[in-house]
Amino acid sequence: MATCMECGKKLQGRKDKRFCDAHCRNAWHRRVYRESRRIHYRIIRQLEENHSILDNLLKAGITTISRSELELLGFHPGCLTGCSTGAHRHTEHRCFDIRYMITERKIFGISRMLGAE
Ligand SMILES: [Zn+2]
Repeated sequence: MATCMECGKKLQGRKDKRFCDAHCRNAWHRRVYRESRRIHYRIIRQLEENHSILDNLLKAGITTISRSELELLGFHPGCLTGCSTGAHRHTEHRCFDIRYMITERKIFGISRMLGAE
């Protein structure tokens, strides 16, 4: 027996029914939308934190740093705006206008993509 995706009550009637009524359907969609926005904003915040860390390193003239130091600064290694292979031996990662290479031990080649796409 199918149950309502919102309240869990047993459903009567049509086999493809997913909610008991419009109230449950709307509540479910609102919750999914809120959760989606929450994840969206968390990732944007993490990208901004990463950019701020990389920007501060560049301002201090630092282009290489160990991964452990970087993570102490609050860097989120899994959060990036793009990556590409080919130009270098290592995959180039991007955080908005800053690019870098990353290995298990360090992040290096931090630079601004001035004029690049
Ligand atoms: Zn329901």
